[in-house]
Amino acid sequence: MIIASSVAVVVIVLLYVLLIRQADLPYIEPLSPVAHLDERKAAIFENIRDSNFEFLMGKLSAEDYQQTKNDLQKELADVNAEIESVLAGLEPAEAAQWSGKRKASGKQASVPVANAGAALVCPHCSARFARPMRFCGECGKPMEGEAQ
Ligand SMILES: [Zn+2]
Repeated sequence: MIIASSVAVVVIVLLYVLLIRQADLPYIEPLSPVAHLDERKAAIFENIRDSNFEFLMGKLSAEDYQQTKNDLQKELADVNAEIESVLAGLEPAEAAQWSGKRKASGKQASVPVANAGAALVCPHCSARFARPMRFCGECGKPMEGEAQ
């Protein structure tokens, strides 16, 4: 008897959760399906900047630097390809929504104070970057001094 009534309670709770609650819940914006990939991308950019810095500081030999940079750029290409394939697997409207959101929402647009001296375009070789860099990913020179 006790078991039967607990089963009944469970069933009622489940039905309540499945059928009723869903309509009552406030709309929660779903996480971008590529949010984790965007984070990985940001981490890779961070690593590229670090290796530029270490190379400039003489902590990294030219070969190690080149190797690290190649590895990171390959990783970056993989992540980009993964993002493309995730977006390609979505409904076109949904994919447009996410790629628009990712560009509009400011993870890359909002520049932390620590990056105040960083720039998007290298003043030395004119290389462009998706986010502000303290050191150029192409020529490795400091990007500071040019307000963008
Ligand atoms: Zn440069």
